[in-house]
Amino acid sequence: MLTGQTRFAVDPGPPYDTPRPYGAVFWLRKAPSVSSTVIIGGGISGTAAAWELARHGVNVTLLERGELAGMASGWTLAGVRQSGRHPAELPLAQAAVKRWEHLSEELGADVEYRQGGNLRLALEPDDEATIRQVVADGNAAGIPMTYLAGAAEVHEIAPALNPNLVGASYCATDGHANPQRTVEAFAAAARRSGADIRTGVEVLGIVTDGRRVTGVTTSTGTLPCERVIVAAGVYAPRLLDPLGIHIPFTVVVVPAIQTEAVAPMLGQVLGIPTGGFAGRQQADGRFRLTGSSIPWSATDHTAENVMPTLSQLTATLAWSTRLIPALEKVRATAIWGGLIDKTPDALPVIEATPEVDGLVVATGFSGHGFCLGPITGEILADLAMEGSTRHPIAPFARARLDGASVPEDVTLHG
Ligand SMILES: Cc1cc2nc3c(=O)[nH]c(=O)nc-3n(C[C@H](O)[C@H](O)[C@H](O)COP(=O)(O)OP(=O)(O)OC[C@H]3O[C@@H](n4cnc5c(N)ncnc54)[C@H](O)[C@@H]3O)c2cc1C
Repeated sequence: MLTGQTRFAVDPGPPYDTPRPYGAVFWLRKAPSVSSTVIIGGGISGTAAAWELARHGVNVTLLERGELAGMASGWTLAGVRQSGRHPAELPLAQAAVKRWEHLSEELGADVEYRQGGNLRLALEPDDEATIRQVVADGNAAGIPMTYLAGAAEVHEIAPALNPNLVGASYCATDGHANPQRTVEAFAAAARRSGADIRTGVEVLGIVTDGRRVTGVTTSTGTLPCERVIVAAGVYAPRLLDPLGIHIPFTVVVVPAIQTEAVAPMLGQVLGIPTGGFAGRQQADGRFRLTGSSIPWSATDHTAENVMPTLSQLTATLAWSTRLIPALEKVRATAIWGGLIDKTPDALPVIEATPEVDGLVVATGFSGHGFCLGPITGEILADLAMEGSTRHPIAPFARARLDGASVPEDVTLHG
């Protein structure tokens, strides 16, 4: 491995122009003198960070214990949404959407991003005030959103929906993408730029010499390095706890159902006020539908213990056919459960840790980290390379959670 060297790299643009001049303008940029960075985790956060680092000439190795997108980044609904975001996350979500709009071009692979909008449905008259507030908050934050009053207005843009809706919030600039393709595209782009991406390698521990990271121990041996990025989703605590870094989150399991492909009928991502159902039609015609979470307490995930309960599936199916009646005759082709890393305030922890130099963490996305992925990658690379970032991440410092415990029913912001 090259370590401690300053070298010049061909860079597809300045680090922070938006949109970046992908593919069209190239110039030489002095690569930072940081090298040998290990990323733990091959989900969207880790692979996006690998791409950012590799294209800036940093020597990076990504280690994934299973397969790429094998956990949350594959289980996800994969909505890409600014509307309804917590104000602290909104700048990241807005920056992410700008990246998503050009991501296929940037990565040289179709990630099936569709900017079809997001509808949060008012189902009962009592929901109207809540949904109107979502619109008012969005508009106040500069997001173009409208309230669609009555089923007729909703049907103008989403004719497949139930005719008895009270109304909906509509954000036309939200969308969705293919999560597997996105992660694979980030990883492939990173590899083309020199990243070493290894699957089936588990990191067993992070090695330090007191205050600094010096390497990682893995299922295939020890790997020395100067920086470690922990993008390990629900398993981040088992890597961080031994270093005295405690992130209080609980893990819940969410049901997901996928259908056979049917003719295009829904361009938007759907949500409901309680957050107990969401759904979308994928670019390939299949529906992906998710429901309410329940606690998950196993220590390691297996094919069986992440499967949803029958009552979770029943409720998700009931919402699906109530909201999209045409789904009644459509076959389900896959069922799975997805684990979510839920913090007390439903916001992530993203920081260069104050306790250990060279250690950068991103976890606790609480069910809405897919949208943020491209920007999370930028932030993680910034923190590893420079120790700081232009993105506003102060609200995501771990210290805010000191002494916090996770309430039974956290209201997710996404
Ligand atoms: C059902 C469901 C629906 C969702 N819907 C949305 C949505 O609509 N929009 C949205 O924005 N977000 C959504 N999310 C959340 C989003 O998917 C996640 O926040 C995001 O994918 C997290 O990405 P990540 O890369 O940080 O973590 P993960 O994708 O979980 O990746 C972590 C990786 O680290 C690996 N790993 C862990 N420990 C080790 C180790 N010791 N050594 C090596 N590798 C290790 C794991 O195997 C895993 O692949 C949803 C999540 C679920 C489960």
